[in-house]
Amino acid sequence: MEIINNSYQLSNGVNALDLCEKYGCPLYVYDTAIIERQYNRLTNAFDVPNLKIHYACKALTNINILKFMKSLGAGLDTVSIQEVWMGLEAGFAASDIIYTPNCVSMEEIKFAVEAGVNINIDNISILEQFGHVYPEVPVCVRINPHILAGGSYKISTGHIDSKFGISIHQVPLLKRIVKATGIKVTGLHMHTGSEILDSEVFLNGAEILFNVAKEFDQLTSIDFGSGFKVPYKNDGIETDIESLGEKLSARFKEFCKNYGRDLQLIFEPGKFLVSESGFLFVKVNVIKQTTSTVFAGVDSGMNHLIRPMLYDAYHRIENISKPTGTTRIYNVVGYICETDTFGINRRLKEVQEGDVLAIYNSGAYCYMMSSNYNSRFRPAEVMVHQGKDYLIRNRETMEDLMKNQIEVDVFELQTTK
Ligand SMILES: *Cc1c(COP(=O)(O)O)cnc(C)c1O
Repeated sequence: MEIINNSYQLSNGVNALDLCEKYGCPLYVYDTAIIERQYNRLTNAFDVPNLKIHYACKALTNINILKFMKSLGAGLDTVSIQEVWMGLEAGFAASDIIYTPNCVSMEEIKFAVEAGVNINIDNISILEQFGHVYPEVPVCVRINPHILAGGSYKISTGHIDSKFGISIHQVPLLKRIVKATGIKVTGLHMHTGSEILDSEVFLNGAEILFNVAKEFDQLTSIDFGSGFKVPYKNDGIETDIESLGEKLSARFKEFCKNYGRDLQLIFEPGKFLVSESGFLFVKVNVIKQTTSTVFAGVDSGMNHLIRPMLYDAYHRIENISKPTGTTRIYNVVGYICETDTFGINRRLKEVQEGDVLAIYNSGAYCYMMSSNYNSRFRPAEVMVHQGKDYLIRNRETMEDLMKNQIEVDVFELQTTK
C-alpha cells in the first residue's frame, strides 16, 4: 500500500479508505498483484528444469485466492482432507495437490487416496499401516532434518522434540519398512517451519535431504517445504530468495546429475505468497489516555487476528485516515474482553476516534485463525484484482452464530424457595 495523492492506495490506484467506506470495518482486503509479484519472485529465483510451487493453502483458503493461485500455475499443499476437498472444488487437478497431514487417522488418509492426491507421510507408524493397505500407491516421505533456525519455537517444526516428520535418525528403520512392505517412495520432503533468514541454514538442510535421497532410487521429486520469511517490520528483513535460489539451484542440478535423472524441485510457501497481500482495516472506537499510555481501541481483536497475541508477532500498523501530520505513540488494542494488544508503542499519525488503521501482513494465518470469541462476527473479505474490488466473503450475521446451535426445549421455570 502506498500513499499516492495524499491517500493510501492498493495496486492499480484502488483507494483503501473507499473500500472501508463501501464494505465497512473491520475488513480483510487481499491484493492479488502482491501475490503475483511474490509468485514471480520465487519462480524467477530458481533456475532448474522442473520447478513446482505448491501454495500452502492453510495460510488463506478463500476459494478465489485458490483459483488465483491456480491461474498463476501453482499447485496446492494441504494439511487436511477438508483442504484437499477445497482444492478440488477450486479446480485443481488431484495430481497438483500434495497432502501433508500430521497425526491424522488412517481413515482420513484413505479419503485422500480416494481423491487421488499426492500423499506425504510423516511418521513411521502410519507409513507401515499405509504400506500394508496400499502397497501400490506411491508416497512422499517427510523427513525431519532437525535444523532449528529463526522464528519462534512455537512455529518451528525442525527441532528434536518436534511431532513433525520422520527423524533423520530413523532413516535406517524407514528403509527397512520400505523394503518389507514394498512401498514406492517417489518423493522426499522437509519443512522446518522456521523462518529462515540465512540461506546457509537452508542449504545445510538441503544437504541432509540429498544424503537421504541417495538411498532411494525411485524418486521423482524433492520438496523443500517452506520457511521463507517475509518482512513484517519496516526494516525489510526477509529471506534473500534470489541468493538462496541461485545457490540451491546449482546444488540441485548437481545432485540430479549424480542421481541420474532430473527431479522436480518443489516448494510449499504459504506466508511468502500471501502475507503481504493482506490488510486488516479496523476502525478506532476509543482513544483512552492513562498516566503513561495512550490507547487506541479498535473494532477488532484477537478474534480476528490472533498472531500478535499468540506468537508475539509484529504487524505493522498505520493510520490510513491521516497520511500526513504529527506522530504520536499508541498502544493499539482490541475490543475483546482479554488483553488483546495488536501493537505496543507504535508511532502513528495522530489518531482520532473514527480513524481507520491498517494492520499489515494480514494475508497469512489471519482470517484463517479467526474465531467467534465474544460472539463477534468474522469480518468480510475483499479481493482487489486488476483495479477492481470484489466481495469474496460476507461479514457474518446472527444467523451464522446460531447456525449449528440446537435449542432443546427442556427447561421449566426454576422457582427458588
Ligand atoms: C504450513 C506449512 C507450509 C507453509 O509454511 P509458511 O511458513 O506459511 O510458508 C508448508 N508446508 C507444510 C507442510 C506446512 O505445514
